[in-house]
Amino acid sequence: MMGTQVQRISYRRSIGLQCSTIYLACGVSKRLKRVKGIGRESKGVEGSEAGSKTGSMKVAKNSVVYLRYRLEDDNGEVLEDNLGEAAVAVLQGQGNVIPGLDRSLLGRVSGERYTVQIPPDLGYGPRQDNHIQRVSKKYFNQPHRLKPGMQTQLQTEQGRRTVTVHKVGGKVIDVDMNHPLAGMHLNFSVEIDVVREATPTEIAHRHAHADGHDHH
Ligand code: ZN
Repeated sequence: MMGTQVQRISYRRSIGLQCSTIYLACGVSKRLKRVKGIGRESKGVEGSEAGSKTGSMKVAKNSVVYLRYRLEDDNGEVLEDNLGEAAVAVLQGQGNVIPGLDRSLLGRVSGERYTVQIPPDLGYGPRQDNHIQRVSKKYFNQPHRLKPGMQTQLQTEQGRRTVTVHKVGGKVIDVDMNHPLAGMHLNFSVEIDVVREATPTEIAHRHAHADGHDHH
């Protein structure tokens, strides 16, 4: 097994949904939006009826939850959303998404909309100073495309990790190992679409299969 290896290049932030499953953060297109000036009063999913509840099955451990979300920073800047796109499927309780978002799903029902502010400890952790690591270019997929400030992903023994390019050398690239969202409060507006029980295969795989079929 190689030490580190880049799976793919990503210039997008990888949201609260960790890249621990192919389907979630990696397969689902996340548009990075730069929408300035959204005030707190406009927070919430567009067209939402706060607190509306239309379903009956409550989210519990190993529920599969189909959801849409919007993620904002503390300045109200939209970092990401998948509103208007296909809902993402999350297997609750299996570390598919950051802990704060995972926990916030418990007890929810389909049709429910809510907002939750997730502190760094339940998100991507605190930002560490001088968290620079020197990595051989051979572990990057397309190192010639990388420039300082760009984000990319490294495959580590702890899973895939989003890093920021700090400096590009001849044979090595220095990367900031802090996740781009480390140290930040993550303000999610969540819209629960469907809740269903996981299949035994999904539980065995520890991730949801979006269409409910056990193939990838
Ligand atoms: Zn699977």
